[in-house]
Amino acid sequence: MSARALTAIVVLAYEGKTYTVRDVWDYAFMERDAPEQVAYGMVFQWAENNNACDCNRAAFIALQCDDAFPVMPCGHAITLTEIRIEDANGNVVTPVDAWSS
Ligand SMILES: [Zn+2]
Repeated sequence: MSARALTAIVVLAYEGKTYTVRDVWDYAFMERDAPEQVAYGMVFQWAENNNACDCNRAAFIALQCDDAFPVMPCGHAITLTEIRIEDANGNVVTPVDAWSS
């Protein structure tokens, strides 16, 4: 993991159980963006974009938490309980909307 990598620690809930997964973004390829802007993109990805969908959330859970977790169709049965972004040193990065004034 490079010094510019950020990790999203994501807590998901499904049928009474919680699952904590990690999503690492190495933003060395986005040099113009501040870590806080990249963090905003990570939150967007999990709250509203591809990883807001059960199909992708189930894949993260199966890979990182529970081999037996089922493949799931698209939907919104797995809920997002918490998301925290940390830098490579474990410090919390507060997301900032890159497009706000
Ligand atoms: Zn889907």
